[in-house]
Amino acid sequence: MPRVFNFSAGPAIIPEEVLRRAASEMTDYNGTGMSVMEMSHRSKEYIAVYEGVERKLRAAMSVPANYKILFLQGGATMQFSAVPMNLLSRKGKADYAVTGFFAKKAFKCAQMYGNIRAAVDTGNYYAIPAREEISVDPDASYFHFCHNNTVYGTRWPTLPETGDVPLVCDMSSSILSEPIDVSKFGVIYAGAQKNMGPAGLTVVIVRDDLLDVAPLPGTPDLMTYKSQAENDSMINTPATYGIYLLGLVLDWLEEQGGTAAMAAHNGQKAKLIYGAVEQSPVFTCKVEPRSRSVMNAVFSSDSDETDAKFIKEAAGRGMVTLKAHRATGGIRASMYNAMPLEGAKTLAKLIEEFKA
Ligand SMILES: *Cc1c(COP(=O)(O)O)cnc(C)c1O
Repeated sequence: MPRVFNFSAGPAIIPEEVLRRAASEMTDYNGTGMSVMEMSHRSKEYIAVYEGVERKLRAAMSVPANYKILFLQGGATMQFSAVPMNLLSRKGKADYAVTGFFAKKAFKCAQMYGNIRAAVDTGNYYAIPAREEISVDPDASYFHFCHNNTVYGTRWPTLPETGDVPLVCDMSSSILSEPIDVSKFGVIYAGAQKNMGPAGLTVVIVRDDLLDVAPLPGTPDLMTYKSQAENDSMINTPATYGIYLLGLVLDWLEEQGGTAAMAAHNGQKAKLIYGAVEQSPVFTCKVEPRSRSVMNAVFSSDSDETDAKFIKEAAGRGMVTLKAHRATGGIRASMYNAMPLEGAKTLAKLIEEFKA
């Protein structure tokens, strides 16, 4: 079976070159006679892998020296708890921008830990709120937002402005897709399964001074940023293979020209899809143009049957996993870094040809 164009929102497409390299190293990594999967996380060989990945991620995102990079488990969803547990005691309250499915989940989850306020919740998740719609409490412990809303297909066109209030960002579906200025953030976290590799690994990037905030009583050691930072994310066994695979993805990213080249590549793909939808008599995109996600294009016709017919037709042409999340219905084309331009061209062509 030839490779398909996999438009899954996550777990998602991984560059074919990365998969082939992983396969070639599967039973004998670098002359060790074993797979990375079989190595002790404390072994000299694995520590070298780990340190290499940390170095590559730091370089790829230009992470400043006063930030720690943690390689954790539990997904972005565990960070919905870890963030308030680690940071809420700073001022005893926090602000959340409720702009979509996961942003709302993070907001709801945080409420379990204390005084959590919606700095904005327009109820319309097909647009990112304008600056005037957002009220920032200057005395909040942090301001939480989701950079790219995977389900509704929106992305913050500019970062929220919060003054001295640290920005905490769920970047699960846009990390590494474009250059970002890490120094503007207090914490960035992301599950790996969208743009960084297989599920099971969660990257957390945290500014040093925030490691000194006292965690809420009862915060497990595994969820405490400071403990993880002091133990190089190895309080227990980390997601060793996922970390290794992230290293291969980062090698691939560098060969492609890094995040700047990715931004251009991703922009081109998104333009093809949104352009085709704009021209189509069948499909529309509900997302306001300035808020449109580059990673996840969500669109639909006016009938579920037509959408289903399109998804079936696409599968026949080697394009799979186009069914959108149940919260929106319709079609969602997730085009992470690894989606080739050819995938977007093939999909745009079908959108143009498709008759209801
Ligand atoms: C996929 C996703 C999540 C959930 O990630 P898990 O790793 O499954 O916990 C959270 N936030 C965003 C923005 C996502 O895209």
